[in-house]
Order: sequence, then C-alpha cells, then structure tokens
Amino acid sequence: MFAAASATSAVQFQFRGGGRPLSTTIPRKKHNHSLVSSRLKLPDSLPCILRYPDELYSMVRLKLALTVSEKQIPAEPPHWRFCYSTLYKMDGSHLIIQQIDEDVRDAFCIYALVLRALDTIEDDSTIATEVKVPILQTFHRRIRDGNFHFSNGAKYYKALMENFHHVTTAFLELDCRFQEVIEDITMKMGAGMAKFICKEINTIDDYDEYCHYPVGLCMIGASKMYSVSRGKSLASEDLSNAMGLFFQKVDTIKDYPDDINMMPNPRMLWPRQIWGKYVDKLEDLKNEDNSAKALLCLNEMVTNALTHVEDSLKYLSTLPDPAIFRGIAIFKVIEFGTLALCYNNIEVFRSGVGLRPGLAAKIFYNTSSMSDVYEAVHDFSFILESKISDNNPNDKVTRSLIDTIKKCCRSSLTSNQRKSYII
Ligand code: MG
Repeated sequence: MFAAASATSAVQFQFRGGGRPLSTTIPRKKHNHSLVSSRLKLPDSLPCILRYPDELYSMVRLKLALTVSEKQIPAEPPHWRFCYSTLYKMDGSHLIIQQIDEDVRDAFCIYALVLRALDTIEDDSTIATEVKVPILQTFHRRIRDGNFHFSNGAKYYKALMENFHHVTTAFLELDCRFQEVIEDITMKMGAGMAKFICKEINTIDDYDEYCHYPVGLCMIGASKMYSVSRGKSLASEDLSNAMGLFFQKVDTIKDYPDDINMMPNPRMLWPRQIWGKYVDKLEDLKNEDNSAKALLCLNEMVTNALTHVEDSLKYLSTLPDPAIFRGIAIFKVIEFGTLALCYNNIEVFRSGVGLRPGLAAKIFYNTSSMSDVYEAVHDFSFILESKISDNNPNDKVTRSLIDTIKKCCRSSLTSNQRKSYII
C-alpha cells in the first residue's frame, strides 16, 4: 500500500543512503497491483486503449517514467542496489517510497522489504504450520542475523528470501531509532500472523483483527517511522489502522480466486460470520450453481469494507507530508475504484477483477490533492450505487454508507462534481 508519485518527480529522484552519493531514480497480495501491472502489459491492453483512448497518454507517460527510473537504481554498494532493485520489482511500494525525503527513504525501503519478507513466509502454504509459526514469531530477531535465508516464494520474492543478508546489512546501517520501530512492528505483525495460522477467521471482529496485523500495523508503523525523523506522527493510530483495514479488505475481496485456489492449501480470509449465511463452505462460492448466493455474500463483504472509507478519508486529509499524502492517496483512489468494480460482479469468483492499467495510470496522474481524492471517490460512489439492487438484503446499509461517503466528499468539494472516471 505504499504508493505513488508523479512521473516528473520520479525521473528527478535522488537516492542517498549510508553517506554514499547515490544518484538514481525510482518513481499489497497481492503483488499484482493495477498500477504496477500497467508497466508490464501495455501491448496486452490494446483493446482497452481503443475503448478508452483518453487513458493512453497517462499509460505511455507512466511506462516511460518507470523505464527511466528502473535504469537509475544505484550501482553500489551491492546491498543497497539489491534492496532498491528488489523493491522496484516486487510491488507498488517503490512508488510511494520514491516520494519520501532522502533522509528517511532508506529506512522506509528496508521497512517495506522486511515486511514483505515476513508476508512471503505467511503467504507460503507449502510451509508446514509447525515450521511457519516459529519463524513468524521470531522473524523480528532474524533481521539482525546475517546468516538468515529461506528458500521459498517465487521470482523476486524468492531472491529476497535467499539473499536476505543484503537487507540485514542495510538494516544495520540505519539509525537505531528506525531499527527499533522496524523490529517492533515486525514482532507484532509476526505474532498476529502466527495467531491466525492456527485460528479460523470466524467473526467480523476476527476479520478486523486479522486485517490489522498485515496492513493496519504497517500503516501505524509508517507513522512511527515518520515520527522518528520529524518529531510528530503522520496520523493517529485509529485512523492509520482504518486506512490499513480498508486496503486489506479490498485485497481480500478481489483476491478470492487466488486464495481459494492456492495449493496445497486454500487461504480462507473471508469471515465465516458473513459467508456462513450463504454457503456451507467458503469454496462453494465459486460454484456456478451458487452464483446468486455468491453475489449476495460478495456485496455484504463490500459493504463491510465501506465502513472504513470515511475514516480513511479523514486519515488522508490529516497527513502533514504532501509527498506521502500523494503516494497513499493514489492507492486509496485505485482501491476504492476496485471496490466499486467488485460490487455485484460475479467475475470476482471467476477470473478475478482489477482496474484497467490505463485507468490506474490516469488516477496516478490525476491525484495530487485532497480535492482530487474527494472527486474520484464521489465518482466511484455513484458507480457503486448504480449497481445496488433493491432485492439485496443489505441494500439499505450499503446505500446509507454510500450516502455518507458522498456527503463527506461533497462537503469538502469547492467545485461541482464531475464524472471523469468510468470503470
Ligand atoms: Mg500475507
């Protein structure tokens, strides 16, 4: 969820770490974010480009900026080169970290890599529970262990786990206060993940608690990291957690096909308190015979995620740092658009859904202020509202939440709302 930047600032970015001059540039699971994939799938997106030609310019602009920035990853020392090149490859984190001031950028880079390594352990369903749980519980101590490595994950995650000594070397070069925050958040996150390896997500309270560990804590830790360098927090813990819960819940909804089909064991992150109303087993939602029930369940999951939108808007509106604001705001808009796309969409249970890369690129360049966020969220609220049918048992709750979100956006907008986003 660490996100984004403008291409202009991206190509002007300067790394600096450990006292070395590094002239370079860089502009959640699932690690196939629309914004990141936009740099990978331009040719595949031709049909969408022809249908939405206004997105072409943003897409090409973003692709060029990312290509330039990739070439500017620092050449030395090798451990920092490994850290930044891994960060660049793995997800959208580099897009927010590139925005952060030089004096704390290295710390946020290592923070993101350590948490991603922890998540790679958590996500690997091939690791036996009796092996995985103690690793998660002690991972905060392994950050300092220059001999720690683990053979799991795939592609760049595999490289991260097998070459973790580079992360350790870079971690030990950070200010001790950053090291303490990273260790503390890693310890709490690892303990929480271990708890839910052994425990089913039954109630909505369980669901909120689980979502707190991988992303709520990450957002809280980001605020503490900022506090180390600036003497003040980014935001309160409650609002940071709300932002994290929103991000995690959108991912949990759209990642249903990946999670339920995971081998050798499915991951079941939807709460039984919701899906148990509609089917006997969570995997039954993917059966075509259960499509009507699956949509009702999905819409209740989306409605649950909507409960965090108002607080996540408050979170964004209070961020004191414009660069960090922009990075998180872009992801917020993309994730809210994704939630609108998911509502009442049976493809969530089939091939999966995600915003068009071109639309994600357009959001990337159109999101720089709180007004931009309010306008986009207002647009997507209308789209989601248009998909609510009256025979849905949760329609009144969903409409009420959407009304609150629209009022929140309208009260803060200075111009008439526009409808510039189409999903
Ligand atoms: Mg995970």
